[in-house]
Amino acid sequence: MSISFREEIKNLKAYEPGKPIEDVKKEYGLSKVIKLASNENPLGCSPKVKEAIINALDELGIYPDGNATLLKETLSANLQVNVDEVLPSSGSDEMIDIIAKAYINKDDEVIMADITFPRYIQTTEMMGGTPVIVPLKEFTFDLDGILSKITDKTKIIWICNPNNPTGTMITEKEFIDFLDKVPSNVLVISDEAYREYVTRDDYPHNTINLLKKYSNLLVMRTFSKAYGLAGIRVAYTVGHRDIIETLNRVRGPFNVNTLAQVAAIEALADEEFLRKSYELNLEGKNYIYNEFDKLGFYYPPSETNHIFVNVGKNGQEVFTEMQKRGVIIRPMGGDFIRVSIGTMDENRLFIKELKEVLA
Ligand SMILES: *Cc1c(COP(=O)(O)O)cnc(C)c1O
Repeated sequence: MSISFREEIKNLKAYEPGKPIEDVKKEYGLSKVIKLASNENPLGCSPKVKEAIINALDELGIYPDGNATLLKETLSANLQVNVDEVLPSSGSDEMIDIIAKAYINKDDEVIMADITFPRYIQTTEMMGGTPVIVPLKEFTFDLDGILSKITDKTKIIWICNPNNPTGTMITEKEFIDFLDKVPSNVLVISDEAYREYVTRDDYPHNTINLLKKYSNLLVMRTFSKAYGLAGIRVAYTVGHRDIIETLNRVRGPFNVNTLAQVAAIEALADEEFLRKSYELNLEGKNYIYNEFDKLGFYYPPSETNHIFVNVGKNGQEVFTEMQKRGVIIRPMGGDFIRVSIGTMDENRLFIKELKEVLA
């Protein structure tokens, strides 16, 4: 191939998503396969969302509302912010990309943890920025370590709270103390993909309130996890109107499709579905914790819908063996795996197969 690409993407690799169920069925000749690898909601989405999507099918011949007016108004009312302080996107994945395109100059430094969500580093490299990695401390964010890495070149700090894949969180107090020390020309992004699953009271449940004081803060939330809408691609970001205006310049004109807009509006209205998802997750988490405890496994306590656990055997091998038995999980390096919490039947099957693999 003689067409040269941008130097910055030289070392980038395509994202490797969790393996689809159908692929695994075919590969191992299995009739039943469960996937506990991508932190999806085992209940799917709200039935009211499905109904709203069906009712919107007649609109597919025309372009979506490029400004997502109704969704923005709904979010604005829900969150008590102005319409120009919120921006929907096609999943938070797209927003991470938009933020990178809008803000990262060549050689700008972007601070992030390790391990955390991989899109932060990929989009930084894509723009020719320099990733500055601060290892987790006891599986959670080392905020002092992050502060010590801030330089004149720092542009963005990525805080995934709670963190994927470790499930750990930082408290409201820790977050505020941190924000007080970050210079106002450094963008801090709070990626709250799992916020709906958090059980602890000291989590910063209301980061939207913090936006009034910290104009360099962006809050990013998604419908892909607790709302069960990973397949339709919709998320939103809240922040200072100047930042939102900047991001608006970079996004595609119709980035959030018609069905996604309708789905998000309806999902916000169904609090009952969210409550059910939370409770099922908590029940599953306690069940799996209990089984892990009996097996003597170490895991950091999770405030999400997944658990990061040391199974005492190479994670890649465990992943392969589990897959042969029809259970897809994620290997995480060393003896760690990440398992998404499923229905109770799925959780029991996971434990049963895991015990056999480790026997
Ligand atoms: C799953 C996930 C996302 C991506 O969510 P989408 O809205 O589906 O793009 C973003 N951040 C974290 C930390 C995630 O785990």
